[in-house]
Amino acid sequence: MVQVVEPRHAVTLADYESIADLSGTVRSLRQEAESRLAGLDGRRVVMVNSTAQGGGVAEMLPPLLSIMRELGIDAHWLVIETRDQDFFRLTKTLHNLIHGAGDPNLAATDRDVYDRVSAENAAAMEEHLRPGDVLVIHDPQPMGAGAILRQKMDIAAIWRCHIGLDKETPETRAAWDFLDPYLKPYDHAVFTAPEYIPSSLAGRSTIIHPAIDPLSHKNRHLQVHEIVGILANAALIKPWGPVLTPSFAEPAKRLQADGSWAPATEPEDFGLLFRPIVTQVSRWDRLKGFLPLMQGFVALKRDLETRTDLEEHHRRALQLVRLVLAGPDPASVDDDPEGKEVLAELCAAYRGLPPHLQADIAMISLPMSSKKNNALIVNALQCCSDVVAQNSIQEGFGLTVTEPMWKRAALMGSCAVGIRQQIRPDLDGVLVRHPEAPEEIAETLDALLADQAKREVLGRSARQRVHDNFLVFTQVKSWLELLTNTIA
Ligand code: UDP
Repeated sequence: MVQVVEPRHAVTLADYESIADLSGTVRSLRQEAESRLAGLDGRRVVMVNSTAQGGGVAEMLPPLLSIMRELGIDAHWLVIETRDQDFFRLTKTLHNLIHGAGDPNLAATDRDVYDRVSAENAAAMEEHLRPGDVLVIHDPQPMGAGAILRQKMDIAAIWRCHIGLDKETPETRAAWDFLDPYLKPYDHAVFTAPEYIPSSLAGRSTIIHPAIDPLSHKNRHLQVHEIVGILANAALIKPWGPVLTPSFAEPAKRLQADGSWAPATEPEDFGLLFRPIVTQVSRWDRLKGFLPLMQGFVALKRDLETRTDLEEHHRRALQLVRLVLAGPDPASVDDDPEGKEVLAELCAAYRGLPPHLQADIAMISLPMSSKKNNALIVNALQCCSDVVAQNSIQEGFGLTVTEPMWKRAALMGSCAVGIRQQIRPDLDGVLVRHPEAPEEIAETLDALLADQAKREVLGRSARQRVHDNFLVFTQVKSWLELLTNTIA
């Protein structure tokens, strides 16, 4: 019921230090750790979340924990492993409500489900904890278990919330009312933006921005031959000869006209990435705004038929551009019961399009059997995208925004609060004000695709912004400050 996960991370601080624009940052992190470590007094830090793979939290924990360990912090990772679908449906509902979406009328039985599974998880976690530990609980799934253990054991507990909305609504109120009894025992909470802090946690909350690891398979620099090899192994392009990258056990699959998913086999399927692409990679979640993005792209293509005012390079860009919508193989996602439903809606919309528009849109299911291969495919897709979109209706903070920003991609984000924290409009990317309005999406894409120089300027600024604010080193530093100031 609880999995002890070893945070696998192949690189060391010395590897980061050898990179010119990171060496100063790592040096200052080492100094910070030296001056603060005594304040922790040898206490262990035990982080708990609900999945070892898939989603932003599972992505962030390995580098965070590994760097903490290298700096001398005794850091550990536990994953709660319940298979209870009612529990995951409820925590997904709470997740959506905290984002202001969904039905705020929770069922009377929901608390029983949450209490029962939390008690089971607490019992399973207890044997992995020692007096003096600092428990860091991520998101609502393990929150109840953390609250039980904080009351039972001589430990400190911090709740790390990765989601939020910048206003109170009936939906957010329903979620916080439900969670309030479990929040009370916590010593402290961490949020991504000050706007997300509910009134019950004012005064005992800190802001820490999520961050990426610049040397992970998801974010490291890829040579052109690696990109070609990865995409060929994923069956997304067909190379003319052998490729250098070791072959993958499982390729990506593309939605076919008959509704099935299959690796590309026909020559025309393989041309996918030899044309300009607009890409969105995300979980299949309604709040990620896949459907309006697809509708916006379709509007752009349809408008093209009647536009007579375009310069030749602009017309060519719009004729050739394709949309890539990629997300995890839905069969592999166990804590996301909604994912399959959302994907089914999207597939139905795709299949309702005429064949020439279907050919311009690639719906891709990414293999999840190998975390490394999945990460490499996402990296390669982000690297070779002319525009990366993140059209989220709501977003706490999108790693799928930070990752392509680091790769100097031109970003088209939505105005969701989290994305506004990341992209300064027209400096590091462009923002769509209404992510559910296809016409605005079409106009924004049109302007970006017409202007390569602007895309380059946005990409350069985006990279610098991530360097200065959203790399893992800043995150570790913030945790060090919090652990030593607030808890120890
Ligand atoms: N991701 C992935 N494969 C996928 C879809 C998403 O590796 O098929 C990764 C993505 O690159 C990012 C994380 O999952 O690192 C999603 O984090 P984000 O903060 O953007 O959104 P969340 O899923 O946490 O809402």
